[in-house]
Parts: sequence; structure tokens; C-alpha cells
Amino acid sequence: MNYKKDFRDNQGYIARLFVFLLTLYNKFKLMRKIEHIGIAVKSLETSNLLFEKLFGQPPYKQEEVVSEGVKTSFFMNGPNKIELLEATNPDSPIAKFIDKKGEGIHHIAFDVYDIEEEMMRLKNEGFIVLNEVPKKGADNKLVVFLHPKGTNGVLIELCQEIK
Ligand code: ZN
Repeated sequence: MNYKKDFRDNQGYIARLFVFLLTLYNKFKLMRKIEHIGIAVKSLETSNLLFEKLFGQPPYKQEEVVSEGVKTSFFMNGPNKIELLEATNPDSPIAKFIDKKGEGIHHIAFDVYDIEEEMMRLKNEGFIVLNEVPKKGADNKLVVFLHPKGTNGVLIELCQEIK
């Protein structure tokens, strides 16, 4: 038996395993998947019926986020989630969005493992964060938005499930 060779081989194996686990861990920490797509609508009542027809099932949840001036409803379509947003006052970001662009896709939300850490990573990459402190959004989430100026005109939401 060549113990020296065995040791060398194992060292290589352990190093590779370590690198693999580290890569996996780092990937796990990044944005993991699209959590939902947010659509700005003028009337939740009307659009709930429309999306119920589209998906063949009603929203599974409706929720008002007073601090954001929005009423939301959530639909599941297979593994995918759609959030409809209606403004509850004229100063709501949704009201401003509809005034400027009309109804339509408002944001894409990505699920993150650690919102603070991901926010720091993206800030270091030069992205503009709209809220420096994660705030409570709909559907039991902490959320941070990235300015669409830095993301090809798409408003990006990072969200982390509140445990
Ligand atoms: Zn959202």
C-alpha cells in the first residue's frame, strides 16, 4: 500500500468536496428563484375576476399593506405566483405607476435567503437600493426594492419569508 499516495488522493478529494460545498452554499445565498410577478391594476375587483378566469381559480389570499398604500391579491398558477396590486390612495407608488405607464407588469420579485446580505452584495455591485432597511411587504415577506434605473427599467423586489 502506498499511504503517501492515499493521503494525497484524499487531500484532493477533501479539497474538492470543500469547494463544492462552498459553491453550493454561496449559490444558496443568492437570489434563488422568481418568487412572484407583481401587476399594477386599476381595480382589484375587476382584475380578480379576470385572473380567476385566466387561471381557473380564485386568488388564495387578499391583503392590504397600509404603509405602501396598496391592496393586493395573490394567485397561484402551478408553481408560479402572481400578485395584483391596486392603489388605495393617489400617493401610492402603484397610483403613480399607473398614471405614468398604465396597468401592467410592475415588478419582478426574487426570493432571497438573507435579504440584508443580498442587499449589501447588490449595493457593492452598484445597484441602487430604494429602501435601506427591509420593510414588511404583503404575504409575510421582508422586502427591498432596487431602482429600475439600474436594472434596465425593471423594478426588482428582493423578498425573504418572515419566519
Ligand atoms: Zn411584490
